[in-house]
Amino acid sequence: MDLSNSSSPARAGLRIDGARLWQRLMAMARIGATPRGGVCRLALTDLDRQGRELFMQWARELGCTLRTDAIGNLFARRAGSDDSLPAVATGSHLDTQPTGGKFDGNYGVLAGLEVLATLAGAGVRTRAPLEVCVWTNEEGSRFVPVMMGSGVYAGAFSLEHALAAQDAQGTTVRQALAAIGQAGGPPSGVADGAPRFGAYFEAHIEQGPVLEDAGITIGAVTGALGQRWYDVTVTGMEAHAGPTPMALRRDALLPATVLMQRVNAIALAEQPHGRGTVGSVTVHPNSRNVIPGRVKFTVDFRHGDEAGLARMEAALHAAVAGLAAPGIDIQVEQVVHFPPQPFDAELVALVRHAAAQVGLPHLDVVSGAGHDAVYVARTAPAAMIFIPCKDGISHNEIEDALPEHITAGADVLLQAMLARAGVAEGAAV
Ligand SMILES: [Zn+2]
Repeated sequence: MDLSNSSSPARAGLRIDGARLWQRLMAMARIGATPRGGVCRLALTDLDRQGRELFMQWARELGCTLRTDAIGNLFARRAGSDDSLPAVATGSHLDTQPTGGKFDGNYGVLAGLEVLATLAGAGVRTRAPLEVCVWTNEEGSRFVPVMMGSGVYAGAFSLEHALAAQDAQGTTVRQALAAIGQAGGPPSGVADGAPRFGAYFEAHIEQGPVLEDAGITIGAVTGALGQRWYDVTVTGMEAHAGPTPMALRRDALLPATVLMQRVNAIALAEQPHGRGTVGSVTVHPNSRNVIPGRVKFTVDFRHGDEAGLARMEAALHAAVAGLAAPGIDIQVEQVVHFPPQPFDAELVALVRHAAAQVGLPHLDVVSGAGHDAVYVARTAPAAMIFIPCKDGISHNEIEDALPEHITAGADVLLQAMLARAGVAEGAAV
């Protein structure tokens, strides 16, 4: 890895305009603003169209060329001095949860634009072209699967599968793209000819409490945890709560609650990165004086490596086997599997180096959540930059981040992208 370019004093001194970035974040947050200070801008709605148009307007003002692919991903490109080089890209998403915040996704997109604006203002031309990506439907709250645009791009699932997905009203992604004027672009997937990046950096709020707790501004994200999700169904027999003696019951809730406790214990045995969550429980018939006949609940296991996930799964099955009893049936069905995704060691080192250049302490962290970068990493070297968010709260209208952290993360993004893309010979800095 060549870090020598990035130690050029003039280049290392280049800083983004934090006030401009903040003002753009707030302007974007007005599109779909909620009364409680959050944002509701669901994927491929008219509000999403408005957000995309604002992004495109800003990108055009910077002299970027724009393209939209067949799943509606947007790419704003700033030419390099050698446009035959693969682009050094960044980005994130503009869609939000129904009760989302101002920063999840929007920060990564607008920090990328701010990098381009800073370079334009300073008259710096990079060797490799730069691109800012807006990935379609990262949140997955209107259409499933989540991380749809980057997933199609990386070939995690097909374009046809994504276009056929329906929202709760029966509107397909294909129809929604047409309704906002973003249908019919060129191939979305790298396997089908979409260009591969030379590198991809994504800046994002942490969405967790680790950086804030440590009092550190920059997280150099070394990778994303793998995830395995399960639906567990425990079946017994519903019966009257009064006339049925304790010894003659087939109460489905009893083994279910034991299993829920085990999920927590299984994760505690896999520290520091093991996570185990039961987030949804339904009890049938859910009546005060009826013994529960069926309990369904979800299990979400996360871990930094696949062997750890396999141990957690084996422990869950062992717990189920240990609860075998006459008249009780327990089924465990795996419904989601995301393998762990390490990020590119060279790019992670560039993020650490960029933080040091900007004079900021950094911490190696892992991403417990999915991000577009996790899919893009299947196609190109990728890394992420985390900044703290207040109280670690995200996917919530009270999601908040400090302006100085917003600025710091974008400065690190700028230096990391410059180091990777290189500065054209003779370019003014
Ligand atoms: Zn996000």
